[in-house]
Amino acid sequence: MALKLPGSINECVYFTRRTFGEGNNGKIMAWVYKMDCPKCRKAKMGKPKDETGHKKIRAKIYVCPECAYTESKEVHEPKLTVEVKYACPFCGNVGEATTPYKRKSFEGVPSYVFECGKCKKKIGITKKMKAGKKKGAAEEDDDGDDD
Ligand SMILES: [Zn+2]
Ligand SMILES: [Zn+2]
Repeated sequence: MALKLPGSINECVYFTRRTFGEGNNGKIMAWVYKMDCPKCRKAKMGKPKDETGHKKIRAKIYVCPECAYTESKEVHEPKLTVEVKYACPFCGNVGEATTPYKRKSFEGVPSYVFECGKCKKKIGITKKMKAGKKKGAAEEDDDGDDD
């Protein structure tokens, strides 16, 4: 099964792209597609927008722009899947993986965790890249979660 890259960030509730590991030989692109509204099935559920049309990234709910059906983060996010394209920093394997859209503690940091299909080492997509000494090199997640 080949993963389909999102055509636009607007199709996603989450998107991140980063390099990591020794010598930055690990690469990750990860995204979570929006889900069809389970009620009307006419639109994709997303974070609500404010009056100026900006996404309220810290909102605790998802809303259907068509029928205004809402779901809390707690209900909605476990139904979503993180899709990942990666280059493994341990074995160099380039592959794809999926993992639930739910952070787990990985080496003490909340992360989306997946396994390299070749060397079976676990790789965590941390909330914000811990860039170690290279401060400022980190890319922030665009989901704005702060919990
Ligand atoms: Zn709807
Ligand atoms: Zn590997």
